[in-house]
Amino acid sequence: MSNRREFLVQSAAIAAFSTLSFPTFGMLRPKKKLGVALVGLGYYSRDLLAPALQKTLHCELKGIVTGSPEKIPVWQEKYGITDGNVYNYENMHTIADNDEIDVVYVVLPNSLHMKYAIMAAEAGKHVWCEKPMAINAEECRKIIDACNRNKVKLSIGYRMQHEPNTKLIMKWSETKPYGSITALDAVAGFRYGGGYSDYWRLQKDMGGGALYDMGVYCINAIRYTTGLEPVAVSAAHETTRPDVFRNVDEITTFKLRFKNGLIATGKTSFAENINKLDVTCESGNFFLAPMQSYTGVQGETSDGKELHAWPGNQQAQQMDDDAMAIMNNSTVMVSGEEGMRDIVVVNAIFDSADNGGEWMDIV
Ligand code: NAD
Repeated sequence: MSNRREFLVQSAAIAAFSTLSFPTFGMLRPKKKLGVALVGLGYYSRDLLAPALQKTLHCELKGIVTGSPEKIPVWQEKYGITDGNVYNYENMHTIADNDEIDVVYVVLPNSLHMKYAIMAAEAGKHVWCEKPMAINAEECRKIIDACNRNKVKLSIGYRMQHEPNTKLIMKWSETKPYGSITALDAVAGFRYGGGYSDYWRLQKDMGGGALYDMGVYCINAIRYTTGLEPVAVSAAHETTRPDVFRNVDEITTFKLRFKNGLIATGKTSFAENINKLDVTCESGNFFLAPMQSYTGVQGETSDGKELHAWPGNQQAQQMDDDAMAIMNNSTVMVSGEEGMRDIVVVNAIFDSADNGGEWMDIV
């Protein structure tokens, strides 16, 4: 057995086979856990992913990559991370020599996703990359190619696609219990407090702004709810605080046109708290509200079906699903191609908004 990854794949395959053979005896589930290193220890890593990793069945928080030395002792103490599993951005490539790390999870400002996702792939580690996958389609393609070249798996952190009510609606794109969709509206945003002006979320070259941050949830929802790819887009930006949002979008509204004539609408905002997916079909309708919160995603259908909030942890579910795909060498649920399709739409939205809302083909 040449390395730990091969061992994990083999032992997981055996364990998965055993689980299938004896489905009622949970004892035979794979015991080995994948070692995960978080890259970037900001809000999402600190408050959501690290705590969620403690709840996973198949993952273990083993490593950190950070440019902030003051965070190291705090994380080491809290999560028992050993000195040998602490990296900075300059030496992160040496993670290649660390058999305790199987997966590198990139949780950095959006403009840095490509560089560090590729670095992780080149180090032979499986890559989990936060949404939005990258800044443009070319960057996304480079990440996908690096992962393919290095034979590692790539998953994008769209946690909603692991959430049961969302998964049900995704299934409805095939089964169409209310007939074909005739109208769809997806909105996602929050009131951004302002903060300091050089924060990356306010910088264009860092991939800041509402569309990259929250708009991708609307685009992804429109795509998974219809099961279709949009062919054209018309979009506009607005701002209520031009002094704060000097070079990124505060509010973006858009229409996505599909080959079958459907026009879906979307809105993303750093000006207000909005969070809803509204779907009208030929013979009924349904909604999710909120549609993308960490908890409480719930909805209703026109025939009285209630989609109750799922009590689980979305991030833990996502990471366990992604870990299982690695251990069983099966297809990941949210691939790099999936992440890239949203970014192609994001780029077309910016083009349209920059051209006065002109309809732009999505290519
Ligand atoms: P954050 O600003 O809180 O953290 C970013 C981290 O990157 C900080 O620790 C910062 O020190 C570090 N960093 C490294 N190099 C940097 C540089 N050159 N400039 C600025 N910061 C640098 O951001 P966050 O909210 O944790 O978001 C990180 C990523 O996670 C983003 O891609 C975001 O879209 C994603 N995210 C996803 C979800 C989700 O629900 N899936 C939720 C929040 C954030």
